[in-house]
Amino acid sequence: MYRRRMLFTLAGAAIAGPIARAEQTVPVVASFSILADMVRQIGGSAVSVRSLVPPDGDAHTYEPRPSDLQAVHSARLVVINGLAFEGWMQRLLPASGYQGPVVTTTEGVTSRTMREESGQVATDPHAWQDPRNGVIYARNIGEGLAKAVPDHAAAFRAAAADYARRIAETDAWIEKQIAAVPPGKRRILTSHDAFGYFGARYGIEFHGIEGISTESEPSAASIAALVKLIHEEGIKAVFVENMTSPRIARTVARESGAVLGPAVYSDALSQPGGPADTYLKMFRHNVPLFVKAMMAN
Ligand SMILES: [Zn+2]
Repeated sequence: MYRRRMLFTLAGAAIAGPIARAEQTVPVVASFSILADMVRQIGGSAVSVRSLVPPDGDAHTYEPRPSDLQAVHSARLVVINGLAFEGWMQRLLPASGYQGPVVTTTEGVTSRTMREESGQVATDPHAWQDPRNGVIYARNIGEGLAKAVPDHAAAFRAAAADYARRIAETDAWIEKQIAAVPPGKRRILTSHDAFGYFGARYGIEFHGIEGISTESEPSAASIAALVKLIHEEGIKAVFVENMTSPRIARTVARESGAVLGPAVYSDALSQPGGPADTYLKMFRHNVPLFVKAMMAN
């Protein structure tokens, strides 16, 4: 006899669940592509990972789809950033009926706050941009996997430790690259404030056209203030992140005479096979571009 399947709804869409699980692999759902990569690095072939926000997607403004509910419902582990980065998860998790463990990767991270244009103080969620926090993320994911799948616990913990070592190596490499830039030149303008942790780690002053979320567009007055800042600070390049619209950055570059740099990666990885399809490749892509732009300041 069939048991009646439960129905879950979100935004008026009804779906049936759960779906059949893939043979032997552990289904893990990560909220966005950077976390999905971290889970893959640690879980290896033992896990099948789904990223809710796709590569090149904007997690700040993401609207979950019915298939996301089904994926979360069928997961053995859910991995999120926290620090209010993926606010839509607050609704998605209960709506999915998921009862399993949730790893908040920023647990144990010292968060930064910043003053928004509105004057409000907000917590900056982009903690992964400091690789030392990436090491904490790796440890949290390794522990989460070990607890969710005790049979593989030792392998997951060993893989997390190995991955943390590779993150630390990348951190040392970045430090060396930035050391070549005179401190007086270390200023960068990007389309949103995603690099606060990165800047604090390596002594670089980042300015964002938008705030720490991408939800609000800057006013004409704040664009005029940015053009003034570019001239005063002698900033020669404006960078657009892969997941934001280049429109406003183009306007700022045109009005200030600054160069619009190539896309850098902040909140989402590139498509597989692209220039930044892993967390560590993201740094290897961004850092030389930042260094070149700062040397021109
Ligand atoms: Zn962001």
